[in-house]
Amino acid sequence: MTSAPTHISSDLRITLNKEGARHYTRMSFPIHCGIFSEVETRNWLLHFNLNNEIIRAKGKTRSWPHPHEWLKRNMGNDWIYYSTGGYTGVFEATGEYYLPNLPYKTNGLLGGNPFDDESVGELINGWPTILSNILKSESHLPVEVSSFLQNALANTPDNLSTKADRLFSICGGRSTVLPPDARHVDYNVIPITIASGCLYKCRFCEVKNKHPFAAIPTAEVRHQINRLTSIYDRDLPNYNALFLGEHDALQAGAANILATLDEAYGAFSFDQSYLQGCSAFLFGSVTSLMNTPESFFQELEQRPYTIYINIGLESADQETLDRLGKPLTSAMVREAFTRIQEINDRWSKTEITANFVLDDDLPDGHLPAFLDLVRESLTRVKPKGCVYLSPLRFGQPSRSQTFGFNRLKVLSRVPTFLYIIQRL
Ligand code: SF4
Repeated sequence: MTSAPTHISSDLRITLNKEGARHYTRMSFPIHCGIFSEVETRNWLLHFNLNNEIIRAKGKTRSWPHPHEWLKRNMGNDWIYYSTGGYTGVFEATGEYYLPNLPYKTNGLLGGNPFDDESVGELINGWPTILSNILKSESHLPVEVSSFLQNALANTPDNLSTKADRLFSICGGRSTVLPPDARHVDYNVIPITIASGCLYKCRFCEVKNKHPFAAIPTAEVRHQINRLTSIYDRDLPNYNALFLGEHDALQAGAANILATLDEAYGAFSFDQSYLQGCSAFLFGSVTSLMNTPESFFQELEQRPYTIYINIGLESADQETLDRLGKPLTSAMVREAFTRIQEINDRWSKTEITANFVLDDDLPDGHLPAFLDLVRESLTRVKPKGCVYLSPLRFGQPSRSQTFGFNRLKVLSRVPTFLYIIQRL
């Protein structure tokens, strides 16, 4: 893909098909991946994907909260504000330099209220006016540039919202929670539902639904993939990652997972993605993990993907598991943790990560049992197999929890981060 002409006037620069980074990189300043078109005025910077849909925006004036912060619009049509968090502790806590501030209640311990900021609200609501003013005021726009602006304006906020609804209906519903590992691709995943519901229906869980676990038949998954190609359409080169939903895709079984990975790779032309590499993210449970044969991981080594499987362990303390209403024994959790280490040590293209809960009011045995696993049971520091600590309460940041988290992170022998629940 080559860059199309740039239109420049005194207060305006429009660049079509600008080539950004080819892989997701963590830096303390914003780096944007993929191919996008950029509209820069005196006050605003807007980015559009290859379907001419707005995907990012920021203000350039002093009223914008911070020059390195920006807004992202995802395929679920959520606007997410990326904040530096003052750069204090965000990277240590989340593994990322920027903190996603979400427009809905989540379990994050950090962050402010950027959506209350006037210029942030002005941009979310006013970006179409910025484009239409350009079309009205600029008389000598190159044909490609004016046609891009008209196409971008045709993707109105209402149309973008309708498109998000179409995406949800193809996948059998919205992905209410993405695996924490999806941070490696900034949550830019194509969702394919290969199983619905989950096995345990834990009492504490805020993201579960009422569906009993069921694998989706192969023909239906294939149909989903076909319909997804028309949703992502010309923007497919900007994707190289899948989310296999829903809450326990691993329980769908090795054959279903491998068939979906292969089918999606061809249908989404991942071999021609502008982005390097490709990955898949899914959730699993203790039951599905322990039932997964070694041959599955061997098969994955032959695939072009790096696979991240996130398992909800929650606690290695029986009293805590009982309080959470998680139908597991602490012995099962310990066994699963040991199995996770074996897989992570043995297979280079699979990373199994685990979640544990974090809350001020859990039984006294929870944290010692956690440290026994992530410190005492391991003889050395490990580079992979992240553990995510998930605050139990939504919308209630607590300083003491943040402090407690930092202490646990220092003691843990696996990479340890906070899990901030994010949807698509
Ligand atoms: S924690 Fe996982 S297994 Fe338990 S109810 Fe929630 S989604 Fe289901």
